[in-house]
Amino acid sequence: MTRYIDVKDVSKLVAEVGMTRVLTTMASYIEQDYRRWDTFEKTARLASHSTDGVIELMPTSDNRLYSFKYVNGHPKNTQSDLLTVMAFGVLADVDTGYPLLLSEMTLTTAIRTAATSVLFARYLARPDSRTMAMIGNGAQSEFQAIAFHEMLGIDEIRVFDVDETATEKLVHNLAPYRTLRVIRSDSAADAVRGADIVTTVTADKTNATILTPEMIEDGMHINAVGGDCPGKTELHADVLRRARVVVEYEPQTRIEGDIQQLTPDFPVVEFHRIVSGAEKGRESASQVTVFDSVGFALEDFSALRYLNAASRERNIGIELDLIPTPPDPKNLYGVAIGSTSCEPLKRVDTALADAIRH
Ligand code: NAD
Repeated sequence: MTRYIDVKDVSKLVAEVGMTRVLTTMASYIEQDYRRWDTFEKTARLASHSTDGVIELMPTSDNRLYSFKYVNGHPKNTQSDLLTVMAFGVLADVDTGYPLLLSEMTLTTAIRTAATSVLFARYLARPDSRTMAMIGNGAQSEFQAIAFHEMLGIDEIRVFDVDETATEKLVHNLAPYRTLRVIRSDSAADAVRGADIVTTVTADKTNATILTPEMIEDGMHINAVGGDCPGKTELHADVLRRARVVVEYEPQTRIEGDIQQLTPDFPVVEFHRIVSGAEKGRESASQVTVFDSVGFALEDFSALRYLNAASRERNIGIELDLIPTPPDPKNLYGVAIGSTSCEPLKRVDTALADAIRH
């Protein structure tokens, strides 16, 4: 049977397991899957663009499981009190094609994106990183802040958003984290000054320049999350030119990431090469590193794999009658008319034939 997990179920899982453990476990699932990169069928996501947003399908599979996520990006939505990003997804069995899990993925995307950001930062940021600037204090921001605090040892976050109420909300939500100092900044430049890590997680369908070259200091790691769509970037091109740029899946990031501003021969490193040890992460303490994050299907595959295991172990969610289960798989028609035995079917056939005759 297909298991169905809704928003309440994911909240329940987070309450039972704890946000930090969910983030940490999801990061380890993502890392495991990046380590077996070659076993995955990979494709850039299928995007349907409109004036104010994008709707995307993100499929991938190994030889055992298949997954896809439906996700959107509509920066103007918050003006009507709607989410910018929302998602749901499916995990299925490759051998039979049967869906194993149908899940909400709005909360899950925020968790998996933060887990991925920290995973990349482990290989790219200076190990002594303690301070992070965070530009963009919307829906994703708490997940990023908590992940960097709990998993990477960041103990000071300097936050800035053009919308002061978003910052207010972030500061309020982070208050229970007593070992995390949260400092409100007057501008992006103010937040970034002296930071070890800079996370940009803004939403605007434009080629923005949240970070300009003069804001960048030696040794910084930039976790650029918000530029994830054609025509939607956050970094000045010269910030990228100065840095070692690491991406998830190059063919997709060339179209959607901040590197869309540069020529196709601009050098980037795919993360799986770093995880496997084929390439270094950071090459020197003074190097500037950038994770040009766009979100790749493999990370959603890992997230669904985790949700499937955790929800079954804890009996969270419900079994869904999504796929018919006729005793005779060739008698699907019987399910449609509410009868799967042959006798009633014959009766219906006779009745139908009578009706046609008269
Ligand atoms: P959101 O709309 O809830 O928050 C975005 C915030 O950015 C808002 O508070 C807005 O006021 C702020 N902002 C916009 N322009 C700004 C600027 N110039 N300076 C400072 N702040 C600015 O959106 P969200 O759900 O938090 O998502 C943020 C971004 O992250 C979106 O662009 C989304 O597409 C992207 N995203 C990427 C991934 C990934 O895997 N890379 C995953 C999820 C979301």
